[in-house]
Amino acid sequence: MNTDDILNAIMAVDQALAAHEAEIESLDRAIGDGDHYINISRGSQVAVAMRGELAALSPDAALQKLAMKLLSTIGGASGPLVASFFMGMGKAIKEHNSSLADVAAAFAAGVEAIRARGKADLGEKTMLDVLIPVSRCFTELTAAGAEPRLIFKELKQVAEQGMLSTRDLVATKGRAAFLGDRAIGHIDAGAKSSQVMVSAVCDLALQ
Ligand code: ADP
Ligand code: MG
Ligand code: MG
Repeated sequence: MNTDDILNAIMAVDQALAAHEAEIESLDRAIGDGDHYINISRGSQVAVAMRGELAALSPDAALQKLAMKLLSTIGGASGPLVASFFMGMGKAIKEHNSSLADVAAAFAAGVEAIRARGKADLGEKTMLDVLIPVSRCFTELTAAGAEPRLIFKELKQVAEQGMLSTRDLVATKGRAAFLGDRAIGHIDAGAKSSQVMVSAVCDLALQ
């Protein structure tokens, strides 16, 4: 992975989020306050606008610069969490030419930073119900030396399963926690946006 890959991923994520605007918005309207699409797309648009300045940086520096900017632009609960992800990933990624296993390790560090920041774990009806299983699968498959194409196809499926798993969960973190059992039957907005982003990056890698 090099900085070009990050820049391409930013574009792909921004487009994929826009294509799922109505869905993400209505999910957060059902069991949150309806602003998750606005929050997350503000972040992706800022990232798109930063592509020029990020291009000159190494991947680790680009991810950390992006994180700082996202922290000050994305609102809501998700802002600090998304920023933590990129800061964690930026600190863990190698300066140049990371292998897929290096990227998996950096991704895991990013997910760990979200866990630390939000004090949430698997099964709490959040973005982590997508990101934790994706990270585990990514680490396992790269360690096993799986073919990249197989890895990205598998990660898309794991993301989809994780997103769908939030439908039957009660939320114990975030706004939906106030709803108790009434949140059951609704997919978590942050899980949906995370699945859309993971899927977009995998599709890019599969091109
Ligand atoms: P807000 O809830 O402040 O309006 P957003 O709507 O942008 O913020 O983001 C809500 C999403 O953030 C939720 O759908 C959930 O996935 C995620 N989330 C909330 N709290 C946590 C937490 N403690 N850890 C991980 N993810 C969380
Ligand atoms: Mg919200
Ligand atoms: Mg809000």
